[in-house]
This record gives sequence, structure tokens and C-alpha cells, in this order.
Amino acid sequence: MPHLVYENTTTLMNRKSNTPFTLSKQSKLPDLLQANEEWVHSINQTHPTLFPEHNAQGQEPHTLFIGCSDSRYNENVLGVVPGEIFTWRSIANLCLPDDSTFLSTLEYAIICLKVNKLVICGHTDCGGIMTCLRGGREALKSQQNCHSLYQYLGDIDQLYSEHANEIDQLPDERTRGKYLCIQNLKRQFNRLVHNDIVRNAIKKGQLEVYGLLYNVDTGLLETVDTLPPVTSIE
Ligand SMILES: [Zn+2]
Repeated sequence: MPHLVYENTTTLMNRKSNTPFTLSKQSKLPDLLQANEEWVHSINQTHPTLFPEHNAQGQEPHTLFIGCSDSRYNENVLGVVPGEIFTWRSIANLCLPDDSTFLSTLEYAIICLKVNKLVICGHTDCGGIMTCLRGGREALKSQQNCHSLYQYLGDIDQLYSEHANEIDQLPDERTRGKYLCIQNLKRQFNRLVHNDIVRNAIKKGQLEVYGLLYNVDTGLLETVDTLPPVTSIE
């Protein structure tokens, strides 16, 4: 159970508090370094060969994980340890076709590292998406001096206006939010599978793409879309 290794990494500072978190806003560099040492110790107990015999020799990840930058999830929701997953994260897991960091990540992961799975993983209660749903994008520019974020979230605002009719009929904000998170995930999934590198790898049978939604209130993933379609994936 690889994910259990993270359970023992609580530092002295937070052992005294009532939160489950390892560090906090009060933590300083010594706390971070201590937390790191405890984490290494914990991994060495459960996976003694991981650092010296595997990670020290290079990486051969099986999966490219693209997710949101949200603090509540990352590739570790798959129960993996370092060395298994190549990762790229962006606010609201946007895969914008002219973003060179995103495109470089695809090239490196698929062509150079030859991952055979690509996970695009959105999540419920996404801050970028909820901001647009609540009509808060304009205030980012006018009141909060977040000009880049305002610009960036234009993609979500546009998506929201495309689906406004069906969203308005949903009963509550939680349902509307999840619906828009799923629509956003579907849009990023489509962008990915129309990318030349991804498309070629799928065509050659070298890559499968999974669109997954992470539920922040349960920790569970649900499948939204796959290519090849889910019926043809074992
Ligand atoms: Zn998010």
C-alpha cells in the first residue's frame, strides 16, 4: 500500500495541532527539512530499494498525469511512489494549444519517455472554475490586480457561456460546479486527443488517454472519457 508511506510524516510542530497536515503557514525552513527527512525515513522503511536502486538510475514513468494545481490532489491519488509518473499541472488543468510548457511536456513524456498512459484529471470544487461560475472573473482584474489570472480564466468563462442554459437549470451550486468541471475536463480531453503527438501515439496503439474527475470530498476518481473507448480497454 504505497500511499500509506505518507501517513507517518507529521512533523513535531503539527503533531501538537489538530489538523492532519504535515506543515502549516507557521512552518519555517527547518520544519520543511525535518519533514523531508522523516518522509525519506518512512519511504526507506517501506521501499528500501526505491531511491538507491530505482530513482538513482533514472526514470521510466508509465504515465503522464495532467491535473489542476489545486493543493488537494495530485498524482499520488493513484497510490504511486516517486519514479512512476511524469506530471504537469496548471490552474483548472487547462491544456491550451499555444502553451509551450504544455506542448513540451507532451513531447518529452510521449516521445522521449514513452509513457503509455495519459491521465487528464480534473477535480470537483475547482477554484478557477467556481470563480467563473460565480461571475467573479471580472473582479480579478478590477479589484484584485490579478491581470494574468483574469486573462487565463477567459477560456473557462467562454466554456461557461456555451453551457449557461443547461447549467442554469441545475438545482444548486455544487451540482452546477461539478457539471462545469466535467465540461472543462471534456474540453481538455478533446484538446489532448487532437494534439498530433497524442493522436499519433494512440493510432499506433502506444498510448491510452483517460479523462478522470477527482472528488475532493471523498478522494475517489470517476471516469469521464477514455480513448480508446472504455469498452475496448481491458
Ligand atoms: Zn482546480
